[in-house]
Amino acid sequence: MAEHASSATRGIDRLVEVAFNVPVDRTFTYLSAEGAERLPIGSRVVAPFGRRSIAGFVVGYPDAAPDGVVLKTITRSANELPLFDAGFLELARWVKRMYYCSLGETLAAMIPGGRREVSLPSIADDVAASQTELELSAEQASALEAVFASPTGLYYLYGVTGSGKTEVFLQAAERTIASGRSVIYLVPEIALTHQLLDAVRHRFDGRVAVLHSRLTPSQRLTEWHRIRRGEARLVVGARSAVFAPVGDLGLIVLDEEHDGSYKSGSAPRYHARQVAMKRVAEAGGRMMMGSATPSVEAWHLMDSGAIVRLSLSQRLSGGAMPSLEIVDLKKDPGPLSQRLIAAMRETHTAGRQSILFLNRRGFAHFFHCRTCGYEMRCERCSVGMTYHKERDLMVCHYCGYRVRPVSQCPECGSLDVGYSGFGTERIGEDLERLFPEWSIARLDTDTARRRGVLERTIEEFRAGKIDVLLGTQMVAKGLNFPGVQLVGIVLADTGLHMPDFRAAERTFGLVVQVAGRAGRFHPDGRVIVQTYAPENGAIARAVTGDLDGFYANELAARRELAFPPFSRFIRMVIRGGDRAAVARDADELGRRCVARLRSAEEILGPSECPLSVIAGNVRHQVIVRTNRFGATHQELAALLSGYTPSAGVYAEVDVDPVSLL
Ligand code: ADP
Ligand code: ZN
Ligand code: ZN
Repeated sequence: MAEHASSATRGIDRLVEVAFNVPVDRTFTYLSAEGAERLPIGSRVVAPFGRRSIAGFVVGYPDAAPDGVVLKTITRSANELPLFDAGFLELARWVKRMYYCSLGETLAAMIPGGRREVSLPSIADDVAASQTELELSAEQASALEAVFASPTGLYYLYGVTGSGKTEVFLQAAERTIASGRSVIYLVPEIALTHQLLDAVRHRFDGRVAVLHSRLTPSQRLTEWHRIRRGEARLVVGARSAVFAPVGDLGLIVLDEEHDGSYKSGSAPRYHARQVAMKRVAEAGGRMMMGSATPSVEAWHLMDSGAIVRLSLSQRLSGGAMPSLEIVDLKKDPGPLSQRLIAAMRETHTAGRQSILFLNRRGFAHFFHCRTCGYEMRCERCSVGMTYHKERDLMVCHYCGYRVRPVSQCPECGSLDVGYSGFGTERIGEDLERLFPEWSIARLDTDTARRRGVLERTIEEFRAGKIDVLLGTQMVAKGLNFPGVQLVGIVLADTGLHMPDFRAAERTFGLVVQVAGRAGRFHPDGRVIVQTYAPENGAIARAVTGDLDGFYANELAARRELAFPPFSRFIRMVIRGGDRAAVARDADELGRRCVARLRSAEEILGPSECPLSVIAGNVRHQVIVRTNRFGATHQELAALLSGYTPSAGVYAEVDVDPVSLL
């Protein structure tokens, strides 16, 4: 009582509500410094929190002090303009609710410098966009007209690789800015290439802000304020740029819509596509997506008419679609089949270059004993260890754990042990042996670890000094080289057998995208797809170019199983170091879901996740499937607000998960 009375006399005009980047779903009340002016919404502050002092944001002004608490005073406020306004805060509250996390966590993810981002290496693309406006082809022009025929709406440029989507996006941006409104242009991080940036800097001189992970925190902040002041009217960036604080948003471009990097892997686990749709709906703007391989959800929305499909069918820079051939590795054994080797020789004789793609690094990804069946697995994860020959180590690709390779079975002592399953390192060795006189380069996160290797390799490949470029994802996207004639996909099935309902979609997209690297500038591109599963629909349809068939078939299968987009999933992962506690907490969560989620169609689990341990964390999951998303989402919010896992156990909620591993 005494405390209450004293807080009342402090004056409510000094009270501020602060959100911190902590996983606690509440905000905290503080007092502004004595005599200081009232801090505006969006101010960054530092305040005592527990035994520490941490940074937070002012998000409101309570009209009464909470009962029975001695209020603390804000220790410091950053001497800068507020970072956001009330409209931005409203968006943050929507994100927080939608993805079940705290307001502070959400703001930290939305605002530059709020959270450390992983930086990917940059790749200099040689041809992506022209620095000056091009005259549109008839297809491009009618797509652009369709978008501007109405003041709002969702549009999809569905066009083969190299069909000039970028040019349409840039001209749509120009038109939007000319009408006085702002544009956000999203690309996967890896696609933030020099060429796109050069093009936007030339065309939108002084009016563009680029938000990417290589900026220092203070550079990001500078760009952020330029956007807030309305100086930058076009914002280019990866996932989190969807939150850019532009005024009067007229257009959001989401290039390579299918790309997995648009979904955040940590709280809030938002999808940039979903946030973008929300933002354009609020602002009364347009959204343009684009890809040669739309996500299955987006395709479904196009079929239903919710997204307008605009097709671009022609390559515009002298290329044609390459011819694709399939090699059955059961008949023409690998890792490099005779057919692929012969094609590489022909390409070399013709003075052209090859790209080999394999989505798996290391030398071998499987160490096993032929006597007792022992398999070497990571001690801290439920996955196999990968053998890296150059480093002479067995490495876990999930947690980085490493051990020395052994030549004897640790279980039974047998010497009959061996490696199987090949990675890029192994293919590189095979290539050196097969073509000792050629110049061969490998690009994966192991080789690109060394500074400058990536840029140098790309440069040399472009200059024709490298005959064969071998690599992982790094060579799959954004690289367009005139000299490339042949693309070889060493193993198309790497992701096919994952226990994940999107495995077929990913495999299909990857084959089509990688194949798209061939024939960009010459009509003689050739693609060889090696596989153990030539009859698999995703691979077969990617090879024959039957995209319509793939989507129709995949949607029919998903409908049959009532999987997204015919239902929605909310996944909860319970993780922690103590196996028993995790199992107990997951069981309890599962019980509550069964009891309280009246609107859900199905509650799957609790069960172990397919990746049941990662970095020493035991993982269990409960997946909720619903056809009444709004109702289930609300019921779950109520349930979760009363659910606290044991000490050392954490619950991660993922709305519309893209992976169920
Ligand atoms: P996409 O994004 O669809 O894969 P790009 O935007 O990379 O395709 O375009 C492929 C190539 O076509 C680029 O070199 C681009 O400059 C060129 N291009 C685009 N539009 C035109 C046009 N209207 N006339 C001539 N060339 C064009
Ligand atoms: Zn053994
Ligand atoms: Zn591990």
